[in-house]
Amino acid sequence: MKFFLVAAVVLGVIALSQEVFGWRECGSGRSSRKKCFEQICCSNPSNQIRGWDAYGSGAYGASRGSRKHRGIDIVCSAGSSVYAPFPATVLRRSIPYRNNNAAYNNGIYLQGTGSWAGYRVKMWYVTKQVRNGKKLSAGSYIGSMTDRTIHARGMTNHVHVQLEKNRTIVNPTSYACQ
Ligand SMILES: [Zn+2]
Repeated sequence: MKFFLVAAVVLGVIALSQEVFGWRECGSGRSSRKKCFEQICCSNPSNQIRGWDAYGSGAYGASRGSRKHRGIDIVCSAGSSVYAPFPATVLRRSIPYRNNNAAYNNGIYLQGTGSWAGYRVKMWYVTKQVRNGKKLSAGSYIGSMTDRTIHARGMTNHVHVQLEKNRTIVNPTSYACQ
């Protein structure tokens, strides 16, 4: 009985210090050997991918008129904090569309480091809040989610995540794991 009491107190202290010291402000707390993205959006702890809505699906390869969707869309409510999916260096801004002055037409381009060397990711509809060249750990803050739906009623708000491996676009779906 005493043991359980001590264990409970120790666990409580650990949980409390995580809150106090901000070890994980908004992370999933996942531990796995699979190569997974860290939590990308504060409002979406499971990296849930946008399903079907009035404008299509957020799946990789989904139809976009004559084109195919070259990334995955991670559900994210407007104003949410957005995080680096893996350890990375900030390359630059990445703008999705030409001749579009909407606030959502913004994004960030990251280059993986450590075990993610060789990977790059474009994350669109995010207001970039970190300077070029900054070194980021996985899950660290990179910017805030815009309202992508402002001219698209019925669309699920989302971060577009476009992954490259050795400069070639790859399907990121298996990395949106737990
Ligand atoms: Zn997309």
